[in-house]
Amino acid sequence: MEQVYLFGGDARHDDARARDKTVVGGKGANLAEMASIGLPVPPGFTITTEECVRYLAEGANFSDQLRADVAAALGHIERAVGKRFGDAADPLLVSVRSGARVSMPGMMDTVLNLGLNDATVVGLAAASGDERFAWDSYRRFIQMYSDVVLGLDHHLFEDALEIVKEDNGFYADVELEADHWQALVGEYKAIVARELGRPFPQDVTEQLWGAIAAVFDSWDSDRAKVYRRLNDIPGDWGTAVNVQAMVFGNMGETSATGVAFTRDPATGERAYYGEWLVNAQGEDVVAGIRTPQYLTRAARERAGAKPLSMEEAMPQAYAELARVFDLLETHYRDMQDIEFTVERGKLFMLQTRSGKRTAKAALKMAVDMVAEGLIDEATAIRRVDPMALDQLLHPTLDPTAPRDVLGKGLPASPGAASGAIVLDADTAERLAGRGDAVILVRVETSPEDIHGMHAARGILTARGGMTSHAAVVARGMGRPCVSGASGLSIDMAARTLKIGGRALKEGDIITLDGATGDIMAGEVPTIEPELVGDFAVLMGWADRHRRMKVRTNAETPADCRMARQFGAEGIGLCRTEHMFFDAKRISAVRQMILAEDESGRRAALAKLLPEQRADFREIFEVMAGLPVTIRLLDPPLHEFLPHGDAEFAELSDAIGVGVDTLKRRAEELHEFNPMLGHRGCRLGITFPEIYEMQARAIFEAACEVAAASGEAVVPEVMIPLVATRRELQILRALVDRVAAQVFAEQGRTLDYLVGTMIELPRAALMAGEIAAEATFFSFGTNDLTQTTLGVSRDDAARFLGPYVEQGIYPRDPFVSLDIDGVGQLVSLAAERGRQTRPEIKLGICGEHGGDPASIAFCEQTGLDYVSASPYRVPIARLAAAQAAL
Ligand code: ADP
Ligand code: MG
Ligand code: MG
Repeated sequence: MEQVYLFGGDARHDDARARDKTVVGGKGANLAEMASIGLPVPPGFTITTEECVRYLAEGANFSDQLRADVAAALGHIERAVGKRFGDAADPLLVSVRSGARVSMPGMMDTVLNLGLNDATVVGLAAASGDERFAWDSYRRFIQMYSDVVLGLDHHLFEDALEIVKEDNGFYADVELEADHWQALVGEYKAIVARELGRPFPQDVTEQLWGAIAAVFDSWDSDRAKVYRRLNDIPGDWGTAVNVQAMVFGNMGETSATGVAFTRDPATGERAYYGEWLVNAQGEDVVAGIRTPQYLTRAARERAGAKPLSMEEAMPQAYAELARVFDLLETHYRDMQDIEFTVERGKLFMLQTRSGKRTAKAALKMAVDMVAEGLIDEATAIRRVDPMALDQLLHPTLDPTAPRDVLGKGLPASPGAASGAIVLDADTAERLAGRGDAVILVRVETSPEDIHGMHAARGILTARGGMTSHAAVVARGMGRPCVSGASGLSIDMAARTLKIGGRALKEGDIITLDGATGDIMAGEVPTIEPELVGDFAVLMGWADRHRRMKVRTNAETPADCRMARQFGAEGIGLCRTEHMFFDAKRISAVRQMILAEDESGRRAALAKLLPEQRADFREIFEVMAGLPVTIRLLDPPLHEFLPHGDAEFAELSDAIGVGVDTLKRRAEELHEFNPMLGHRGCRLGITFPEIYEMQARAIFEAACEVAAASGEAVVPEVMIPLVATRRELQILRALVDRVAAQVFAEQGRTLDYLVGTMIELPRAALMAGEIAAEATFFSFGTNDLTQTTLGVSRDDAARFLGPYVEQGIYPRDPFVSLDIDGVGQLVSLAAERGRQTRPEIKLGICGEHGGDPASIAFCEQTGLDYVSASPYRVPIARLAAAQAAL
């Protein structure tokens, strides 16, 4: 058997493929792994992901080989359990579970209790001695199978159950007796017959293949596709199918089911953490139908909850579970997320995987596990997703700010968020699309809500525990989430809600604190994060293991200061044009641009010189001792022009030139394609006085700061948009000349560099020649992507989405470097540049400098540094370390 692998019972578990996630999926691999180390796993088998890919490609056909292998594998389960599938006297029941290579929470559907029909339900009742259990299992099966396999709306069944409860005055499912469930089964079957025009399938083999097909088909469901797109999961992986003997948590008061983490997934603390329910089956815990109970006594007491914890109610099964937790952590050397069931006092393990965690928990666990000797520093560095650090780098609620607390829920995913209340996912997506901050508020979330959760700043639900869909997905996305807010009720028809008795409506602003569970009215102010403790420790390790330097793209002293706190080792890109937009200066800038001749321009530039010098002085002060790359003016001049009559009139007053003259001059500056027009070094060539002023400002400021502070000031003057050696030759001579003048005037000299951006394909190709004039290259990959792909980044939004969806580009090439294409130009330019000038300094300053995949490419290419926006600096430090390991 090559496409079906056995686990549990007397299976041998010695085939490497049987434990390979790419072959049998994550769930299957870990079930086999757990069984192989002797843990109590109900026996079963896994059909490979390869078979899924084949099935989907070949038009949903099962091969004869597969049918034969599945029949044989079923025999393995039957022998291990001692029951036969479809046996009317004592039937084997199975679950049919999906399991892709990586876990896709809630994306794929599971069917439990498969193998029940009108005959076997009677056998199950007799063999178990529990009528209620048998009929409860059968009604669950019909509902799940009808939903997942037959495509019927689950509300049809839920409504029928509600009616039975109302008729009998019951509140909870546990109050229903055997005959209630039996009657409900009759109604369920009638619903199926009515909706489908054929009866619920009674043939257990038909049931099994129907479920297997449904799992395979679910790989291509819309919600699976959305999840894959959001998480960069390739569409051609496929999912495995796990068929496993059922164990029953719904066999009365000595049975239970639960989910648990070996450490706290929100804080990372070393404490077992989980939820469980007595007399319940699988999905009950996560679906939020009943409020789950605490696993440990300590957690129950801390929450002041009444229902007994598992530790108290089932001490023996709990002790066994705790032993398994420790075993699994030592085995996998990572925090595990576990599903278990207790059937009449005996513990069974149904799933384990490395648990999703908040960034804070990931850091704490990585640092703790090194101290515990479980993992080494390199593993700890690899464990933390650089992008997840983002969660820690953003503001949290100001603890001293007043809060108008409306109510409280569970602290399901940390972070703070304010925004307008929105009651459904589509609206959330639409409003977020136009730039609104929204909070998605739902009774509970389901996979259909994923796009809205992604669009929202935060998520609030009325039902569901810490392991509910909302909580798990929000933690994975890094969205703050408060779940299970029992004081919250929603009126969907009126689009209003109540929290703790206060009436609110869609559009009202609220604030969530995902760390405490507080729900507040209005917007609460936030404070900057503190980068200490575990964060500092892990960053220290990352710094020791990385080769590349990390700089920042910043142009204001505040951003520079922030970036230094985040660990920036210099500035990779200081854009000088931002300094021109300042309200005080813009009229001098406009005067310069609109001047008729050189002397007019010089007069205006003379006014700008002291301002620019002051800018650079401040930046050099903040960055003392570190290199600062300053890019001379880059954008097309018309970007600075006045807009509208009022601005023209104002400028006319300020500089004493008539409005008509100004308008004519502005007209002359019009360009058809400004991004390929009169910009970058082309400005420096045609209006050298602009670059002269900027170079003078840089060197005068550098001399002043060096004199005052005694620290080294290292200006790196960068010429943008160079395509030819001659351009750089001319402008470099200009910069050198100004530097020499300033040094003579000031009576001191400084080290400085003159280099260029590589942002045009020609520059990359000619890098060997250009390097003769440049002491550094900085890859401006935003423009280089734009010019290489021939895609305007300002207009790309309209088609890049569909492009990525159809796999034309694997990811947005402005977010993650197009390594195949643009990457070639980068490597080639690096190589040719080094041939001419072996010590040439190489860096990247596009947005890609903060993207982990692009950073890995920069490491391979041997760049000296990456430069990222201030908030991305820690991400880049960690990603650079991971790339170097
Ligand atoms: P998901 O990936 O959505 O968690 P699972 O396949 O893990 O789907 O199963 C859904 C629920 O059913 C889980 O709570 C799981 O523990 C439970 N379950 C799955 N298989 C069995 C089984 N053989 N016996 C008892 N419970 C099961
Ligand atoms: Mg599961
Ligand atoms: Mg550019």
